[in-house]
Amino acid sequence: MSDDAASGRDKDTARANATCPICQRAASTDYRPFCCKRCADVDLARWLGGRYAIPASTEEDGDGEDYAPQPRE
Ligand SMILES: [Zn+2]
Repeated sequence: MSDDAASGRDKDTARANATCPICQRAASTDYRPFCCKRCADVDLARWLGGRYAIPASTEEDGDGEDYAPQPRE
């Protein structure tokens, strides 16, 4: 029997230490559960198109950090 009220996808995920599901970085309070707008857009694009379809934009995030959607090593 399954009387589990929480039929969500991730019940083990603690919201205290949320990490970005895209790049596994620490989630930002502004873009949670993502770390930045870019990752949020990535996830959104995945939902919409079912694949990575990020338009090439020259928008500056302001993070100042090197962003790598995929591990290069
Ligand atoms: Zn991220």
